[in-house]
Amino acid sequence: STRASIRPVNVSRTFSTTVPAFQAHTTKLYINGEFVESSTKKWIDVRNPATQEVVTRVPEATPEELRAATSSAQEAFKEWRKSSVLTRQRIMMELQYLIRKHTDRIAKSIVYEQGKTLTDARGDVFRGLQVVEHACSIPTLMMGEKLTVAKDMDTYNIREPLGVVAGICPFNFPAMIPLWMFPMAIATGNTCIIKPSEKDPGATMILAELAAEAGVPKGVLNVVHGAVDTVNYICDEPAIQAISFVGSDQAGRHIYERGSRNGKRVQANMGAKNHGVILPDANKQHTLNQLAGAAFGAAGQRCMALSTAIFVGEAQHWLPELVERAKELKVTCGMEPGADLGPLISPQAKQRAERLIQSGVDQGAKLLLDGRGIVVPGYEKGNFVGPTVLAEVKPHMECYKEEIFAPVLVSLNAETLDDAIEIINGNPYGNGTAIFTTSGAAARRFESEIDVGQVGINVPIPVPLPMFSFTGTRGSILGDLNFYGKTGILFYTKFKTVTALWRSEDVDHAKSSVNMPT
Ligand code: NAD
Repeated sequence: STRASIRPVNVSRTFSTTVPAFQAHTTKLYINGEFVESSTKKWIDVRNPATQEVVTRVPEATPEELRAATSSAQEAFKEWRKSSVLTRQRIMMELQYLIRKHTDRIAKSIVYEQGKTLTDARGDVFRGLQVVEHACSIPTLMMGEKLTVAKDMDTYNIREPLGVVAGICPFNFPAMIPLWMFPMAIATGNTCIIKPSEKDPGATMILAELAAEAGVPKGVLNVVHGAVDTVNYICDEPAIQAISFVGSDQAGRHIYERGSRNGKRVQANMGAKNHGVILPDANKQHTLNQLAGAAFGAAGQRCMALSTAIFVGEAQHWLPELVERAKELKVTCGMEPGADLGPLISPQAKQRAERLIQSGVDQGAKLLLDGRGIVVPGYEKGNFVGPTVLAEVKPHMECYKEEIFAPVLVSLNAETLDDAIEIINGNPYGNGTAIFTTSGAAARRFESEIDVGQVGINVPIPVPLPMFSFTGTRGSILGDLNFYGKTGILFYTKFKTVTALWRSEDVDHAKSSVNMPT
């Protein structure tokens, strides 16, 4: 009866390379295999961060719509859980093909809603595509264990799906992060509800369309929209068994606590402050290239951005050259040819970044490059901040303690590798780190002594490919099962362990045994 109030609408959206032709559109809900207009009265404007034009309006789904999405997922689970793993594999293969075919369409929607450059947006899609490719191995990934434990007796475990699971996404990877979630969730036999970021839901909507085309049955994947109320519904709804969350600390802690209190399995990937350690023996040109790309790429809006550099000893003299490289980066709308950095997601994000830069100056850091106040011709209203370098930063400064999430590199000096390790291990976050050196011994020591989940050795953004897992630690994560890879399968499944006795010959049934079987 709740579903009856939801009106199916035309799903077609077109993306122009010049003017966003979809400006006037509203973003639909995707419930029970249909794209439907919300009946809500609360709408959120999505603005192109380079121009402030309204690209689309996102509904805050009503409680009835959220319940309709849940009951559609519950209903679909009854059949989907029984589907053959080979069927699910085939659907993943089809989805893989369709995402590749539609990469540019998804990437353009990301540029208009999120602001990153078109090339970078293609990378966003590609890193998500790799998870779908991994999910194509689902028959092998789902295999359990079996052992003959006594005469005629076998014990084996079966991985079973949890039921309805949900994913709550951040704004910064509008394709990759939903693709961390729903392909693994449905390939393991669950049905899924995704809540994209209300700031850029377009990529998820295209992915839902492609999933349907790939053969994902109605109700197996649903998309709902909104902000805090939608998130709280997901945390409280008893039918939802597990929540995957990626985003800020504040939301992550709230969702982890509220979801766990309600008995759900929750994995929450949160904020970061990733340090790059530069030893004086590093390959200078390689290192400076890597540092500039990893600090300023995607306008610093990556959870694995290398936003903090620690120059050890003589390496601190390389800073002026890094500043020269940073100056060469082209800041403009992500659709412009040759763009290196697009705008930040919102005027608030820009103001916050500018405030944190100023706090660095006020607390005694040296501003070697100031990206504040830049005006991009043709995009004067955009939320642009240019590459910024703050040097001689100290750990007590606000610009060091806060995740700035903007193209701002904060640079510290250390006398020795041990001093650098001490700084990093003293930081509450544990998402990623990197060392640049030509010394295997130094790299080996760094790798073993550093308390961070993802370590790069001459690799600035060491995001593991999906046959491994995304393994941030400490303040960057709550929950103990990671996204994708082996632990991703564990997150979305539960074990059932069967002990079976099939006697091959008759035994004496005269007396019951009351002792614990041994
Ligand atoms: P965000 O926390 O503001 O939003 C993420 C999701 O949570 C959204 O869907 C939003 O609607 C919801 N939300 C926001 N505030 C909420 C609240 N108070 N209560 C309930 N729900 C709430 O995060 P964001 O700004 O979209 O994303 C940027 C953050 O995500 C950065 O901190 C970044 O480091 C982090 N991130 C982490 C990883 C990782 O794997 N560790 C990856 C990408 C992004």
